[in-house]
Amino acid sequence: MNVWSKLDGSRVIESLERAIATDQVAHAWLLLGPSGSGKRSAALAMAAALNCEVAPKVGCGTCSTCARILRRRHPDVHHIVPEGPLIPVDVIREVIIPEAARSPFEGRRKVFVIEESDRMNESAQNALLKTLEEPHPDTVFILLSDAEEEVLETIRSRCRIARLEPVSEARIVELLEEDGASGEAALLSARLSEGDFERARHLAEDELVMARRQIWVDVPSRLVTSVDALDVATEILDTAKAAVKERERGHKDEVQQLADAMGEGRGTAGARNALAKRHKRELKRLEEDVLGEALGSLAAFYRDVVALRRGGDEAVTNIDLLAPLNEWAECDLSDAALLQAVDRCLAAKASFGSNANPALVIEAALVELARLVPPPATTSIWV
Ligand SMILES: [Zn+2]
Repeated sequence: MNVWSKLDGSRVIESLERAIATDQVAHAWLLLGPSGSGKRSAALAMAAALNCEVAPKVGCGTCSTCARILRRRHPDVHHIVPEGPLIPVDVIREVIIPEAARSPFEGRRKVFVIEESDRMNESAQNALLKTLEEPHPDTVFILLSDAEEEVLETIRSRCRIARLEPVSEARIVELLEEDGASGEAALLSARLSEGDFERARHLAEDELVMARRQIWVDVPSRLVTSVDALDVATEILDTAKAAVKERERGHKDEVQQLADAMGEGRGTAGARNALAKRHKRELKRLEEDVLGEALGSLAAFYRDVVALRRGGDEAVTNIDLLAPLNEWAECDLSDAALLQAVDRCLAAKASFGSNANPALVIEAALVELARLVPPPATTSIWV
């Protein structure tokens, strides 16, 4: 077992593994592939293989270095994610460029994983270009994107490109079972993730994610009046805040580890500052992710009611909720109202990131759902 054994074992993954094992490490990589094809997991495996002390160039997956990299808690592995719709040019200039010029604090390589790198606009991509051309010898960039055509040719031509394929539902189930999930849990996670391998793994392995899902799927039956809707909205917002609190505790450990790794002196203020900024962005993103998860679950639920009416059990995503879904399918709500509810959830989810106030977004969406798709009067057997 090593960091690569949890990935899908495709030829592309094997070629990445081999490149690092044989010291053919490019300064910049561009991993392409649809959402959920495992780009992020592959990038983390690469970062671990580049820094692992127990199995250098392989990544044992279990030493403190690997564990912290995989949990995104390593001071030399930086994750850049969009803030709202964009990765702003300021982040490139103020965070990436100065940090990329420093040598690693404790690892062998400093790694920047830039997620959704197509969300750098032209000026941001151009700002990054020079650093990609003349990187610090110990720095490696791994850019991820599912929109190749949005990445400037000048960036693409400076990266080694790897194209990941989507992972089939059957293969996701197999991988989750290899990791110890029961057949039932593996199938449910694979189905709920809608082909997104990384989300499926979260669902199967992170108890908090599955526990939250239990809260989300209970919501449709509770939206009887607009007062209920506001109560439920508060609960959803509190759940997101609790997730943020939990992550903040992890951040405190990370600050301590950075201090231990660096001691005093040499650029410490700059590095602390960069870490504090990264944490702030991460927390905002996490809150939006959890709220997005809630809205995504609601959308899947209402979509399932329509799917059940039209296609039967096989068409359903929430395969563990057939009893309540059947009750909804038999009530007199129209398909049009249900599909409108789906759209409303997805529109609310999409509005995060455009600086919308998350609390207002959630409250407005739930009040409207209570009006559009009130639960059938007989609903009583929620599990
Ligand atoms: Zn290791």
